Amino acid sequence: MSMAAVLERLRANVDKMKSVEYRHEQLRALLRCIDENVDRWTEALRKDLHKAKMECLVMEVNYTRNEVICHLNNLDEWTKPEYVKKELLQISDECYIQKEPLGVVLIIGAWNYPVQLVLCPLIAAISAGNCAIMKPSELSEATAALIEELLPKYVDKDCFAVINGGVKETTELLEQKFDHIMYTGNSNVGKIVMAAAAKHLTPVTLELGGKSPCYVDKNCDVEVAARRIAWGRFVNSGQTCIAPDYVLCPSENQERLLKGLQAALEEYFGKDPKESEDYCRIVNQRHFQRVKTMIDKTKGSIAIGGDSDEKDLYISPTVVKDVQPTDALMEGEIFGPVLPIVTAETADDAVRFINSRDKPLALYAFANDKKVVRDIAQRTSSGSFCGNDTMMQMSLATLPFGGVGPSGMGSYHGKFGFDAFSHKKAVLVKALAMEKVNNLRYPPYTEKKMSWINWLSAKKEKSRGGIFSFLSFTVIMTILAVLIKVLTVMTYLV
Ligand code: NAD
Repeated sequence: MSMAAVLERLRANVDKMKSVEYRHEQLRALLRCIDENVDRWTEALRKDLHKAKMECLVMEVNYTRNEVICHLNNLDEWTKPEYVKKELLQISDECYIQKEPLGVVLIIGAWNYPVQLVLCPLIAAISAGNCAIMKPSELSEATAALIEELLPKYVDKDCFAVINGGVKETTELLEQKFDHIMYTGNSNVGKIVMAAAAKHLTPVTLELGGKSPCYVDKNCDVEVAARRIAWGRFVNSGQTCIAPDYVLCPSENQERLLKGLQAALEEYFGKDPKESEDYCRIVNQRHFQRVKTMIDKTKGSIAIGGDSDEKDLYISPTVVKDVQPTDALMEGEIFGPVLPIVTAETADDAVRFINSRDKPLALYAFANDKKVVRDIAQRTSSGSFCGNDTMMQMSLATLPFGGVGPSGMGSYHGKFGFDAFSHKKAVLVKALAMEKVNNLRYPPYTEKKMSWINWLSAKKEKSRGGIFSFLSFTVIMTILAVLIKVLTVMTYLV
């Protein structure tokens, strides 16, 4: 079946998804799809990335499961009309925001967390009432095949389709007209996706990457920081979009930090990480070569690791010290198990360095004094920020997940995902009574009408403080509301 034909089939069924009850049904079906196949998900992830079972469960299966449950628990609330604050002019009108589905959306996933990066956008698309085509990454082949096999057995085939393939298939898909595209991956392809979407004026959510900095302050429990950084950087062999990409640290702390990282890595993966059941592999030869070349080209000195085995797609957890800002490791996102340490003597130096580069997807700062941490959050811009830990900002579905500037646009997770795939329709419903009031805005225009319109609608600047100004505003509004209600009733009685 051609891609246009698949899209046509889904488009013919968009009305089915308008029913909130049907969305519940589809989300419950997706939950069964996750729960009844836990072993198959973990096997596929092991094949693609050598992921440990616990990591598969925590960061993929259970994570996605929790996302479905979050949507099931909140969907009724999120789909309700959202009544808005009114002004004098609309006092007797019904004014609300109606969340409506967009139609058929395209979800393009990446390979590093290949379950959650396809299914979490799908959950959001379903709860917002859309049909969807999913295009998993061809690099995580086993998981992509499993998604293609399992999904049609659980969710409605007339509303959802999985299309597997690489550049050719994605390019063909992008020629079609969708109502929204959510893409996860690198920024070069992000530009291709956005350009293709622009041809149809299709809105996009782009979940991209970049170099996420991690500042370690001079006054900091360096050993604890090292454990948290080592986990964030080396989980999934560094192939995590929000992993700390490099450390900024005062020179006086660097030796302690290195010792802490070494100790943490030994504790997590043993003396030889290659033998560890819990250490992942690089996804393919191309990415192996890309990361290996960065290590080979660095002018910094390798303090930890540096070993690799191409046949096994293995690169050991590697920490490089004395790295200059112009080093090969500081050019693009590393997206592999390498952590450069760059000197920044003070928080001010770190902020200057961060602000001179692209806005990152995530930013981390470690300091004993939370004021220092909050100050860095305030003086920099990034998709997300986490103080005194790494990556934990994504564990909370009430926080949005997304980038800013070159690290992405739009966000999802929890209600943010529901919003990403919804149109917020402005609705105002008037009664047919009180036409006399409406006469004010019809021609012929007169000065008297104008002064009434000004009185009714011209905005007044609110005084910024003081309980009295608030109280007097509330009292005036209440009196006016009562007067208008009385007038309305009288109009009906006359
Ligand atoms: P990838 O190679 O799997 O590509 C992503 C998707 O784009 C795939 O489905 C692929 O088929 C498609 N694609 C590739 N080339 C294309 C082309 N020329 N035209 C059309 N489609 C094409 O993944 P990747 O890009 O290697 O992913 C890694 C990047 O993604 C990193 O930068 C990482 O930081 C980022 N990432 C971001 C997030 C996030 O949530 N922000 C999550 C994961 C990864």
